[in-house]
Amino acid sequence: MTLQADLKTAQDRLAEYLAEARHAVAFTGAGLSTESGIPDFRSPGGLWTQNKPIPFEIFLAHRAARTEAWRRKFAMDAAFSSAKPGRGHLALARLIQDGQLSGIITQNIDGLHQASGVPPDALVELHGNGTYATCLDCESRYELDWVHTQFHAHGELAPDCPACGGPVKSATISFGQSMPQGEMLRASAMTRSSDLFIVIGSSLVVYPAASFPIRAKQNGARLVILNREPTELDDLADLVVRAEIGDVLAPFA
Ligand SMILES: [Zn+2]
Repeated sequence: MTLQADLKTAQDRLAEYLAEARHAVAFTGAGLSTESGIPDFRSPGGLWTQNKPIPFEIFLAHRAARTEAWRRKFAMDAAFSSAKPGRGHLALARLIQDGQLSGIITQNIDGLHQASGVPPDALVELHGNGTYATCLDCESRYELDWVHTQFHAHGELAPDCPACGGPVKSATISFGQSMPQGEMLRASAMTRSSDLFIVIGSSLVVYPAASFPIRAKQNGARLVILNREPTELDDLADLVVRAEIGDVLAPFA
């Protein structure tokens, strides 16, 4: 592992790697969006240290848990609806546009990659999408406005699917919920074809997130980890940059 503390040297090295790569892939996590005002829920003082996440099993079993999940979701959407892509998002969108980056695999559900202009075919959303809801039984799609209206029409109560009575959930992946098959396959294919794999703002503690950089490395790709804090996989990386993501990526935008 080469830990690069000097910003300019780190940027030069990253530019060099990008120039040499044929299929560079970025893997992004919550740390990319903190500059946009979206907190990293896992960080100390983050929402998840105050509100324990609701496991999928509990969500399915209890309406009270579903109601609490929707209450949190609406509160977060209200707080972060004005979030704009940060310098990191803009840099990645530019690299995609210029053909220097083949694709982005993201753990984020904030929609900021899309907002910065990354086309859907270059983006894999591993943890789903928070901009709509689905019935977990019949897979009917529901808009958040509809859920919001139903929620309040019954004195803050999670609505059931009108078609089949099943539980309605935002189209994101919760703790304990299985990963979406199609997205996992696309992410695996992207990882397999990469010769440069750049982790950005992910602490790589959640499985299967950590498996992607490991597989890329096993396939012979160069591995770069850009994160404010140390990660589990720093020892595997060719280049580790511990700095503010926006500062490092700004010149690439
Ligand atoms: Zn249904």
